[in-house]
Amino acid sequence: MGKNIVTRSEDYSKWYNELVVKANLAENSAVRGCMVIKPYGYAIWEKMQAQLDKMFKETGHENAYFPLFVPKSLFEAEEKNAEGFAKECAVVTHYRLKTNPDDTSKLIVDPEAKLEEELIVRPTSEAIIWNTYKNWVQSYRDLPLLINQWANVVRWEMRTRLFLRTAEFLWQEGHTAHATKQEALDETMLMNNIYAEFAESFMAMPVIKGSKTESERFAGAEETYCIEAMMQDGKALQAGTSHFLGQNFAKAFDVKFTSKEGKLEHVWATSWGVSTRLMGALVMTHSDDNGLVLPPNLAPIQVVIVPIYKGEEQLAQISEVANKLADELKVAGISVKYDDRDTQKPGWKFAQYEMQGVPVRLAIGPKDLEKGSVELARRDTLSKEFVQQTEVVEKVKDLMVEIQDSLFNKAKNFRDEHITRVDSFDEFKKVLKEKGGFISAHWDGTSETENKIKDLTKATIRCIPFDREEETGSCVLTGKPSAGRVLFAKAY
Ligand code: AMP
Repeated sequence: MGKNIVTRSEDYSKWYNELVVKANLAENSAVRGCMVIKPYGYAIWEKMQAQLDKMFKETGHENAYFPLFVPKSLFEAEEKNAEGFAKECAVVTHYRLKTNPDDTSKLIVDPEAKLEEELIVRPTSEAIIWNTYKNWVQSYRDLPLLINQWANVVRWEMRTRLFLRTAEFLWQEGHTAHATKQEALDETMLMNNIYAEFAESFMAMPVIKGSKTESERFAGAEETYCIEAMMQDGKALQAGTSHFLGQNFAKAFDVKFTSKEGKLEHVWATSWGVSTRLMGALVMTHSDDNGLVLPPNLAPIQVVIVPIYKGEEQLAQISEVANKLADELKVAGISVKYDDRDTQKPGWKFAQYEMQGVPVRLAIGPKDLEKGSVELARRDTLSKEFVQQTEVVEKVKDLMVEIQDSLFNKAKNFRDEHITRVDSFDEFKKVLKEKGGFISAHWDGTSETENKIKDLTKATIRCIPFDREEETGSCVLTGKPSAGRVLFAKAY
């Protein structure tokens, strides 16, 4: 069938790439570093979007849309942000092509159509948004501004991987403005918590919440909070970030408001984002050597029904049962597909839905017609059983919850088994090499030590966990005093 993929233990990286393509999630395109998201992959992304969007709106945020291009002078205004992203910017310099006089079948850039000011394709939208907020905020009555946009951004990444790191990616970016520092800090934490809640309850992916060190911080931020996840190969993945921007952007774009006391003050800012990288995280957290494994809460198709038949008459009899079951399942709020195509054999369909991670498969054959049964197969455990047709709906409803929980618990056990406390640098290197995962170790708090460890081991500080124990110690590399353990890992 050509559906088989290389196993995780043979080549994890190849397994991921093959799976993404064979499960019909995405493929590479004619544009370097940019992917085509295929309908099945996009359907999962839409489910993610719908849930996140609901959570944003429940916490008072509204959606808006800002331009794709940022005039260079605006982009430069917040120095640190501009400097941080400068190396990965796509820049528009001309607005017209013309026929090549030497070869009329070709087009060339028209030198007469040079833009007076270059346009940056947004790598993130703070500049254009804060330039707009200047006109929206005058008084404390205009605050807080709680705005999100769903958009694409471009970062000229050198080493790209489908979903995990692409040159163009889809994301949401929240940009909020507040009257006080504390309010902005609370917002930064709230959104990081919403990301964690989404990751755990919908993606069934356990995450660690924490803050980034200075060198891993977003360019232009005073604090970056994050959620960090652990993939099955023992590498960490930054799954979402929420930034406290202080008054940096308000000062750069002159966004001031009159306070209740009548004083003119700069506003306080946050920004936060998750991207199509979450698709990669979802794949790498749960999938196995047979293909994708999807948590029911994000599966575009939760149940597939496949008829096993010989001839038109038998198909008609089976279809009657299948359609009735499909209707009952739909009424119970379950998304179901009845695949009665006669262009593919049942075995092919089984393999395809297994590859695409459909949580539950029901097969109905002639024997089931006699017995009033169906064969039910679970994608996560690959277990099969016969269920009475009258009991299918209840059984499936229970299974949706059970599979969701079971995937989370399995991922959490794996993650917890891959957090190792170490107290010497030899141990650090040994664990990193032999086991991978998060290494919980003391660090002296300096960027210098952090960089040295990165150079020596390729491991970076993923975060300073919010819930770390109160425990002073000595740095795993320098022996200098440490205020507490941080989590190191090799990361995507
Ligand atoms: P940032 O604006 O850098 O904090 O990134 C916001 C979110 O986008 C984070 O969750 C990142 O993990 C994710 N992200 C950053 N760069 C990429 C990329 N090249 N492809 C996909 N996702 C990305």
